[in-house]
Amino acid sequence: MRYQPLSFLNIPYSLKSLPLNGHFDFDEIHHAASDFGNRYQFLPLAVLHPKSVSDIATTIRHIWQLGPGSELTVAARGHGHSLQGQAQAHRGIVVNMKSLSGLKMHTYTGKHPYVDVSGGELWINVLHETLKYGLAPKSWTDYLYLSVGGTLSNAGISGQSFRHGPQISNVHQLEVVTGKGEVVNCSEKKNADLFYGVLGGLGQFGIITRAIISLEPAPKMVKWIRVLYSDFATFVRDQEHLISAEKTFDYIEGFVIINKTGLLNNWRSSFNPQDPVQARQFESDGRTLFCLELAKNFNPDEIDIVNNVRHVMINQSSAIVLIRYSNF
Ligand SMILES: Cc1cc2nc3c(=O)[nH]c(=O)nc-3n(C[C@H](O)[C@H](O)[C@H](O)COP(=O)(O)OP(=O)(O)OC[C@H]3O[C@@H](n4cnc5c(N)ncnc54)[C@H](O)[C@@H]3O)c2cc1C
Repeated sequence: MRYQPLSFLNIPYSLKSLPLNGHFDFDEIHHAASDFGNRYQFLPLAVLHPKSVSDIATTIRHIWQLGPGSELTVAARGHGHSLQGQAQAHRGIVVNMKSLSGLKMHTYTGKHPYVDVSGGELWINVLHETLKYGLAPKSWTDYLYLSVGGTLSNAGISGQSFRHGPQISNVHQLEVVTGKGEVVNCSEKKNADLFYGVLGGLGQFGIITRAIISLEPAPKMVKWIRVLYSDFATFVRDQEHLISAEKTFDYIEGFVIINKTGLLNNWRSSFNPQDPVQARQFESDGRTLFCLELAKNFNPDEIDIVNNVRHVMINQSSAIVLIRYSNF
């Protein structure tokens, strides 16, 4: 069927006529013109709240058929935690991926466990679901209120990346709605160009509607260590040593602390504030400090072995060390 060119004024009518399970909103659009960066505000023409993958495919196919004359752009929006308007579409269509997050997650146990999730799902929900099976994704971001599609369009980096790679290296398969509105499954072996284009593709090669993500057994307990350095060379030497060591931590991440009070106060609160000796160690006098955050996963019966791990690995003479144990 050939579509006639539409004027911009007619586009809303054409969108409203599409057979969808979800709906377009042309009025409540302001939230789609903001993001975490709070620097760019591009109002879309409409927000699509899809209830199914076919809603997204139908919409994009329609826009493709309208042709470039419509000048409609499309942006998927996960949790809107971009900094520079990446999930916004000026006078275009923003696809609210969270509407899809109600689609059921499926966790598969066995030798090579994985979870099959919607692209709009938040990582925190993926964690809660997979923990029911004693499993967890291998690679994380620090902050878990981000969407699966949102971080897979970037990279998804955290303290497990040195071992497992970023989140985009732990995906078996994707379901993607392409720029022509086709729904395509892709993986390393099938439609590999699309797979590698979409992973880390900043939303420019298609919309991720489902992802199959590799899992591993979740630890029962975690020994969590923060090490604070004033000397950059020692900080880097320790970090490189820990990352390349054979028997090392399960999570290693380095930070530069330039915040004069906030983060250090947060650290200080981890100690007994009544203890002046400990509290004094966190005076930064406005200097830049460096922090290693480390975690060792273990089972409760391994606690003695785990207790020795830091003594072997960290140059303690030039660092302040804070340790905690947590149930996972
Ligand atoms: C407080 C905070 C903490 C963060 N911590 C980390 C961290 O520890 N590690 C890390 O790696 N990053 C981190 N980030 C960066 C974050 O991973 C990216 O900003 C990510 O894109 C945000 O996910 P989102 O769901 O909010 O995506 P959005 O901001 O909604 O979208 C980001 C981009 O992805 C596209 N997109 C969204 N969903 C899809 C989809 N389903 N299919 C295709 N494209 C899509 C959008 O169009 C846009 O281009 C952090 C950001 C913030 C604000």
